Amino acid sequence: MVTTHNLGFPRIGGKRELKQALEKYWKGQTSQSTLLDSAAKLRRAHWQQQASLDYLPVGDFSFYDQVLDTSFLLGHVPPRVAGLPGNALDNYFRVARGRSAHDQPKNCVSAGEMTKWFDTNYHYIVPEFDRDTCFSPDAAALVDQIRESKALGLTVKPVIIGPLTYLWLGKSKDGSHKIELLDDLITAYEILLDSLQSCGIEWLQMDEPALVTELDEQWQEAANIIYQRLQGRSFKIMIATYFGQLKENLSLACGLAVDGLHLDAINAKDEVEAVVAHLGETKVLSLGVINGRNIWITDLNQTLDWLEPLHQRLGGVSSQRLWLAPSCSLLHVPVDLASEQKLDPELNSWLAFAVQKLQELELLSKALNDGRSCVAVALAQNSAALQTRRNSSRVHDPQVKQALSTLNDEMAKRNSSYAVREEVQQEKLRLPRYPTTTIGSFPQTPEIRKSRRDFRAGKLSKQQYREDMKREITLCISEQEALGLDVLVHGEPERNDMVEYFGEQLKGYTSSQFGWVQSYGSRCVKPPIIFGDISRPKPMTVEWACYAQSLTKKPMKGMLTGPVTILNWSFVRDDQPRSDTCLQIALAIREEVLDLEAAGIDIIQIDEAALREGLPLRKSQWAKYLDWAIGAFCVAANGVKDETQIHTHMCYSEFNDIIESIAKMDADVITIETSRSDMTLLDVFDDFHYPNQIGPGVYDIHSPNTPTVEQIVQLIQKAQQRIPAERLWINPDCGLKTRSWEEVLPALQNMMAAREQLLINS
Ligand code: GLN
Ligand code: ZN
Repeated sequence: MVTTHNLGFPRIGGKRELKQALEKYWKGQTSQSTLLDSAAKLRRAHWQQQASLDYLPVGDFSFYDQVLDTSFLLGHVPPRVAGLPGNALDNYFRVARGRSAHDQPKNCVSAGEMTKWFDTNYHYIVPEFDRDTCFSPDAAALVDQIRESKALGLTVKPVIIGPLTYLWLGKSKDGSHKIELLDDLITAYEILLDSLQSCGIEWLQMDEPALVTELDEQWQEAANIIYQRLQGRSFKIMIATYFGQLKENLSLACGLAVDGLHLDAINAKDEVEAVVAHLGETKVLSLGVINGRNIWITDLNQTLDWLEPLHQRLGGVSSQRLWLAPSCSLLHVPVDLASEQKLDPELNSWLAFAVQKLQELELLSKALNDGRSCVAVALAQNSAALQTRRNSSRVHDPQVKQALSTLNDEMAKRNSSYAVREEVQQEKLRLPRYPTTTIGSFPQTPEIRKSRRDFRAGKLSKQQYREDMKREITLCISEQEALGLDVLVHGEPERNDMVEYFGEQLKGYTSSQFGWVQSYGSRCVKPPIIFGDISRPKPMTVEWACYAQSLTKKPMKGMLTGPVTILNWSFVRDDQPRSDTCLQIALAIREEVLDLEAAGIDIIQIDEAALREGLPLRKSQWAKYLDWAIGAFCVAANGVKDETQIHTHMCYSEFNDIIESIAKMDADVITIETSRSDMTLLDVFDDFHYPNQIGPGVYDIHSPNTPTVEQIVQLIQKAQQRIPAERLWINPDCGLKTRSWEEVLPALQNMMAAREQLLINS
């Protein structure tokens, strides 16, 4: 018989209940016990939604991030929170975001560094290692959740991050080799696993996605050592790999001293045969046959075509060796398609969110266990939906295909070199030394959100809505003028989200009402869905930019999201290469850039916040991605005149290994995230001479804390050791929309004061 299970379920809630519960707690509006109750309620609801599975995940729920949870399970907590008031959960929130509820400034700490989870848009809190790192494991939090699930009569399989991946994801803070901590770390896991023995579980899932990355010999050996030491418990261990192929780690992964292996059979389908061959006669093979990263329905018949013979080879219904699951945790897809009331019915029939994916899983297992005829109606519906999608005229637009075929290399190049452009731009813009700017958005107040919501719901007239937005833009401009910023922005009040905003206006795109996916902590994004060829029916941002420019003599930055980011933060069609879809978007953005320029906007920022996260997990595949991704950016950006200044912005940019590609984008100015890492991200500029201007972020907008003037001055001084002052800009790390005006104004005042100091000193 085939066994079904799930690697993890979205924890935020179909209506973002966890977000609301967290934010109320952080604001001091609710007690910790209310927060704990909400969490327990959500876990229960999520288990109910997964009830059809043979094994439900437990331990996949998190108040902020599963890597941070692991740090706390291991008792690996940064010393800076030791001795602070409150309990472990308060410290957990301090590491996550700098402070917990009711924290006085003296109890605020710097938040842990955040970075992207593999090639997803989910962010984890990076474990901090140094020579003195020690662990004091305590499984209580996990054991409690297992008990909670058992009390509901559920058959569960706890999920934790494995030691290899945990160590691999962490960062050494003092230059010591983190692998030296291996022995202690395994000991800590031994203690954790010991504590789970009394919970009456059959299986433990240990996530080891590090196995799909390039590991050197030392790390490969570490994997063997780890699982040799962890074997022999009262339960079985399943290693979960996902997001990619095992490649050179394949025989290693198959040979680990564990009882089962999960393979991402979406991204590593062509490795299934080799894995079966290497796995031996007794281990369980779990195949991730439903895409956990995208929202299209699965071709069930096609999947069964290759699963049926495989099932037979693994012993068929008389064996328990074949398990089925989604390819990875469903954390990366929205919860339930049934909540969507406004999607076109045809489009709706092409989609599956988390709940629907589990239904597909159930169908597959029924078909394998009892024969396809038992689920014939569902299978026929599935192939009918796929058929309409393949032939739909809303998917294929001949005009877009035609436009793509006229693309040429010249379109991706600026007319003159940076040196020439810099001169004409300065002539026109006359910016002071250390020009100051922001990244685009200003706080999105409850009033703006309400106005957007009411407009959508038809409760607010278009005219009233526009007046509201214009009032907000006017306010943003006057605040920026009062602060003395040099290059202004309109503040993006009309944008719910930097990708969705464009998705709503481009043809070939649709958006959901509740398709939320966790990005970090309580923050969610609602990736729009690209279902067809992309084009731009009309200008998308020009009116707002021009209105803003009409209010000030200072230069106004037109604000766009770049093609690679739009692609990477959308659910992308799976019926053509991503690179083709990206170029279609690039052409649409190029039209917008040229319209902004023609309308008198002299500076245009094209955000590529997600460029880096699109990098394939393996370096050997980077060049190909960078080639088409940077190419698409250049098509979007480089059609402008010399005197038009192009900015780009990137978040969480560990640039070291892609700096040459970034230079190839040839943006006149690039603003990046650097403050949380204390400018260490700039180390790359020691060796690489980056030719254009850079704004290293000096204000960590992901934390509610206000940077002091001294801190900002120090950051810029650090930056100056690597980048000549005449090419430095001063700006926050990222957009300010998630902060409040009360937080933003003092921070920006300090930023401006820091610039004054730097000018005096220079
Ligand atoms: N312009 C966007 C903003 O300010 C950029 C956001 C981002 O990089 N994530 O909100
Ligand atoms: Zn950013």
